[in-house]
Amino acid sequence: GAEEFQQARRLLAGACRIVVMTGAGVSTESGIPDFRGPNGVWTRDPGAERRFDIHAYLNERQVREQSWRARVDHPGWQAEPNPAHTALVDLERSGKLSSIITQNIDGLHQKAGSDPARVIELHGTMFETVCLNCSDRRDMRHALDQVRAGETDPPCELCGGILKSATISFGQSLDPRVLDKARVEAVFCDLLLVAGSSLTVHPAAGLVGLAVSSGASVVVCNGSETPYDDAAAAVLRGPLGEVLPDLVGGVRPD
Ligand code: NAD
Repeated sequence: GAEEFQQARRLLAGACRIVVMTGAGVSTESGIPDFRGPNGVWTRDPGAERRFDIHAYLNERQVREQSWRARVDHPGWQAEPNPAHTALVDLERSGKLSSIITQNIDGLHQKAGSDPARVIELHGTMFETVCLNCSDRRDMRHALDQVRAGETDPPCELCGGILKSATISFGQSLDPRVLDKARVEAVFCDLLLVAGSSLTVHPAAGLVGLAVSSGASVVVCNGSETPYDDAAAAVLRGPLGEVLPDLVGGVRPD
């Protein structure tokens, strides 16, 4: 309620080093469905989970073909940032935002104007492909053009290996350098603001525990319950496109 909101505002106003952790929920108002929310990809179609499993992707051509069809049609190519993303750009102007750790792959924080050097993409980016054999990375556009021209499972142009978007599927490890950077951010912040994540995907969710045990306060802004609500100093439930601008509006530069 109103008291939780005031508490969250006080914490933001008093913080010196803020880290924001975002999930799919900050982008639903931009037309990109999350996984586990009420209109989530998996909530509507539990079978879609297989497309995000690295073993299924490697072993089943059919899964890769479904994945490429979904990539061509991904709403992320047309999506525009919403007021939740813009609020975080405003927060950066306060000078107190150290970084945005995002589980999103849609690039909308950068598109909104957040400093790319402060955005840590834990789960990679949908704008590049990676070869699962030779690790060659390139712009996603090449592969999508091939799919649009009729190729159902475009191979790596260098070695013929299996191509995938440069995102982390279940069963794949995160880039250790990226994860280390996020851990340092979690340890040294004094306030961790979580926005739009169910906090059920690891190791991302574990960063919240790390921040708490390092003495940071946590504010959770999410439409549904998370496993870290009890550890949070304030929990705000409203739509992020309203909650984040309201919350951040009160933070003044030092
Ligand atoms: P999730 O689907 O597990 O959780 C999203 C949470 O956001 C839900 O709890 C939901 O209640 C909440 N939510 C949705 N819309 C909201 C709104 N408008 N206001 C307030 N709350 C809202 O997503 P996650 O925790 O990010 O983890 C899922 C994985 O999905 C991540 O690994 C991520 O890489 C991937 N993913 C990314 C995108 C993207 O890039 N936009 C989209 C779907 C999934």
